[in-house]
Amino acid sequence: MGSKRARQWDLKLNDRIFRSGDERFGLNIRRNEIGKIIEYCIGAESLETGGILVGNYNKEHSVAFVSDVSRAPRDSKSGTTWFYRGIEGLQAWLYRLWGEERYYLGEWHFHPGARSVPSSTDLRQIKEISESPKYCCPEPILLIIGGTPSSAWEVGAYVSPLGRALVELIERKDDLVGMGESGSFN
Ligand SMILES: [Zn+2]
Repeated sequence: MGSKRARQWDLKLNDRIFRSGDERFGLNIRRNEIGKIIEYCIGAESLETGGILVGNYNKEHSVAFVSDVSRAPRDSKSGTTWFYRGIEGLQAWLYRLWGEERYYLGEWHFHPGARSVPSSTDLRQIKEISESPKYCCPEPILLIIGGTPSSAWEVGAYVSPLGRALVELIERKDDLVGMGESGSFN
């Protein structure tokens, strides 16, 4: 999937807001969680890495708010251009967060030295998640970090609605994020 928009390499850890062109889907993620992801990417050096996004939705269920991100589970496997996210420890963690009304929202992963554009494998995997009864997540988010996390990186955000093609979410730079503490969105 290509983007016509030229993205700029970025180093700033800001709160980020993404919306689909039709406003049906959105993602808000704070600098703190972006910072954790960047740290995990730096730690992975030239290998791909990834994890899951956890949080909740607004009342209309159109905007996902990320409250927590995982690092790659220990049973994950990766190369320079591929990543298989493992599952070790995730179920217990999700169960604990579920008690605080924080749920699985989707996946993040890192394309070292490459663009934050999903590969055909990424498209297949996120589609499988949208269809999987195990995840109970018909609109999973895919967040991709590209570039060099210590100096010049970019972030791409996508949603994969069940039965539909992947939708790119466009970053909004001019809005206030307006998010509270973890778990107190809405
Ligand atoms: Zn990928």
